[in-house]
This record gives sequence, C-alpha cells and structure tokens, in this order.
Amino acid sequence: MLIDTLRETHDLDDAALLDLLATDRYDDALRAAADAVRRESYGTDVYVRGLIEFTNYCKNDCYYCGIRRSNGAAARYRLTEDEILACCREGHALGFRTFVLQGGEDPYFTDDRVCQIVGDIRAAFPDCAITLSIGEKSRESYQRFFDAGADRYLLRHETANEAHYAMLHPSDLSGAHRKACLYTLRDIGYQVGAGIMVGSPGQTLAHIVEDIRFLQDLRPDMIGIGPFLPHKDTPFKDAPSGSLALTLRLLGVLRLLFPGVLLPATTALGTIHPRGREMGLQWGANVLMPNLSPVGVRDKYLLYDNKICTGEESAQCKDCLSRRVASVGYQIVTSRGDSLRVQRGGQ
Ligand code: SAH
Repeated sequence: MLIDTLRETHDLDDAALLDLLATDRYDDALRAAADAVRRESYGTDVYVRGLIEFTNYCKNDCYYCGIRRSNGAAARYRLTEDEILACCREGHALGFRTFVLQGGEDPYFTDDRVCQIVGDIRAAFPDCAITLSIGEKSRESYQRFFDAGADRYLLRHETANEAHYAMLHPSDLSGAHRKACLYTLRDIGYQVGAGIMVGSPGQTLAHIVEDIRFLQDLRPDMIGIGPFLPHKDTPFKDAPSGSLALTLRLLGVLRLLFPGVLLPATTALGTIHPRGREMGLQWGANVLMPNLSPVGVRDKYLLYDNKICTGEESAQCKDCLSRRVASVGYQIVTSRGDSLRVQRGGQ
C-alpha cells in the first residue's frame, strides 16, 4: 500500500502524494510509519535550538508577516551584541548547543556587524553550532558569514510555485531569487533549512507537491513547516489559519520522504493547538526551537497573533519543554544536533 511504498522508496508520484495529503484515510498508518522511521534515524532524541530573535526591523513587506515594513503598529526593537551574547551564555548554561539568530531583514545589521557577532559567538562557544536566519543576501555576504563561523542557515522558500509566491509577496521579491539563495548557501557549505507555511493564502495541495519536488532537488538538512496564522495588522488578517491536521500529515510525509532530515515542531504548531508541538513529535518531528530572547522583547517579535511563550524566562521554557517532550516518550538531548547527513559525513 501507499505508506509502505513511500517508506521503502522515499518517493511517490504526484497523484499518490495528492491522495495522501487530501484525506485522513491514511493518517494512522502514516503517523505510525513516520514515528518508526524517526526512531530508526534519531531514536527518541529531540534536538533543541535556542532561538534569539534579535531584530524585528524589516525592509521587506511580505503580506503575511506581522513585522512587515508597512506595519506601523509593530513596536520595533533590536538587541545589542552584548544582549545577544548574554542570551547565548544563558542558553549554553541551560544545555543549548545551537543558537539561531533570526530577524527581519534589518539594514542596521550590516555584513560587518553580523560577522562581528558571529565571530564573537564562535570564539566564546566553540562547541556550538551557529545558525543564521536573516533572509536573502548576496553570495559574498553568505560567504563572509560562513567564514566568520556560521554553520547553518534557515531560509524557508515559502512556496515553490512562482504564481503563489507572487500572491504572498510584493513584486520586488521573487521565488526564483529565494530558491537561488538556498542553492548558494548549500554550495558554500552551510547546513541549510528550507520550508513553507501550511495553509498560506492561495495554497493548494498541488502547490505542496511542487514544494516536495523542490525539496527533493535541494536536499536540505532541515525542513521547517508550520501552519499559517493570520496577524491582525497585515493584509491577510481575515485569512483562515492553516490546518493542524494537514501540518501533521505533511510532517509525516516529509519524515518518510527524507528519513534523516531535521524536522522542527514549530512554535506556530504550538500556537494553533496547546499540544501541537507534542503531536508534531509523534508525527516525525525531532527538533524544538524554544525562545532564548530576553523576556522584554519576546512579545514584540510577532509574526502572527497569539504566539506562545512570550512571557516566560528561558529556564522556565526549558523545564516546560522537557516535561512536554517526556509526556510523549522522547527526551531532549544536549548536543549540536546535526542532521544525519552531516553526522555521517556525507554530501
Ligand atoms: N527574515 C527571515 C526570517 C523570517 S521569519 C527570512 O526571511 O527568512 C521565519 C518564518 O516565519 C518565515 O519564513 C515564515 O515562513 C514564517 N512566518 C511569517 N509570518 C507567518 C505567519 N503569519 N504565520 C505563520 N508563519 C509565519
């Protein structure tokens, strides 16, 4: 049957993928197979990344995003380098061995400033992975960040379909350029994360199949997916949220298509349902990205409404997460948490 074929061949034709995504008919078998494969690849380990949302200034105007340039209601902030390093120190003491610096595309953070910050984190925490998630840059910039010590880069492609991309973004942004950035990052030697929002306005299941084909070509180390959630001060404020069921189903499909990939159970998944992240882990996800940002700015990095964990201290967050992870039979580990491809030294 479909799930066995997917599990054995790590592929399906378009019609079979559409069939799988369209109904809940295969859900029990899909979830069981995804969890089995996740255990073959990663056991019951859950990798954690400390997320530092260091600026919510952004020069882009993505229609779905709460920190888009045109949102005059957003209270803007940027962290100083000292504040960023303090987050890393706190995170390191809590057992984090990956720091993710995420932000809007903020021109204040020039390449020189980014390199300075990355270099200082690299020197202070030689046992940690440094991940950047700061959008589309030139090859030269990506190379400079890499040379300064960054090892990973998250850049969701958002959608592989150019017409759909144009529904989500103003015309100065293109899907082709975003994809080209991902190939450049891979080429430089970064561990790369791509991904999409599930249920973004205008998205069809056929688009998701196109996303899968793109991912099969790119072969990223990580695939970040979470439901689209509306933000009240964006053009998509009245658009419906993405579906929990489809997000989980897609996690399961991705685990079977890419047995060794890193799959985060995202904050958006935890926002759409109180136990969404736990369910994500049961559907094949093996990564969590709790917030390490200072409490004072957490309620300002709002990409969508009702974001969770905006009030807690990092240590509280870690305890809460450990309990949640244990409640579904997995455990958080203290390690860099490289993808299987990297652990095996492969390309
Ligand atoms: N500026 C960086 C970081 C973007 S924020 C970059 O360009 O990559 C990280 C991700 O949050 C985005 O890639 C997007 O997929 C997701 N996101 C943004 N707005 C969202 C929303 N309203 N609902 C759910 N996810 C959203």
